[in-house]
Amino acid sequence: MKSPTETCVREQKFAADRMLGKLAKWLRIMGQDVIYGQHLSGYGLIRAARAEHRLILTRDRGLKRKQPPDFLFIESDHYREQLRQVIKACGLSPLDNAFKRCLECNLMLEPRSKASVEKIVPSYVFSTQENYSWCPKCHRIYWPATHHERMIEELKSLEID
Ligand SMILES: [Zn+2]
Repeated sequence: MKSPTETCVREQKFAADRMLGKLAKWLRIMGQDVIYGQHLSGYGLIRAARAEHRLILTRDRGLKRKQPPDFLFIESDHYREQLRQVIKACGLSPLDNAFKRCLECNLMLEPRSKASVEKIVPSYVFSTQENYSWCPKCHRIYWPATHHERMIEELKSLEID
């Protein structure tokens, strides 16, 4: 296996195996392009990663016998340690692109004007929030909310000096 720094490239995209759902979600919170799903293990994971030149993130020690493309073996069972490993190995900045991707669909969010969401979001949200974006696929509306602060604190705690 190549060293982790060699496996990561600029604008790295990821394919996380199905054991790594929480890691995948946090990478998406960081704005990273990561596919994840129940079908993504073993050869399904390898096929998907190869098709889109994604770096495989896996806890499956048997995967390397299946001749996968580049992969990063995730050492820990705990998502914070897993995130730290990926951030360090791939030189990611946790906050640079945070909250720019749909957590469900993995697509980049697009800005929406406040006026255009008036009938869609709850009125208490509309009266207190100015900035909105939405996912072009699932049409879910996103806005900065209090849970962002907790997530930002969490991401800050992961930054590697
Ligand atoms: Zn979506």
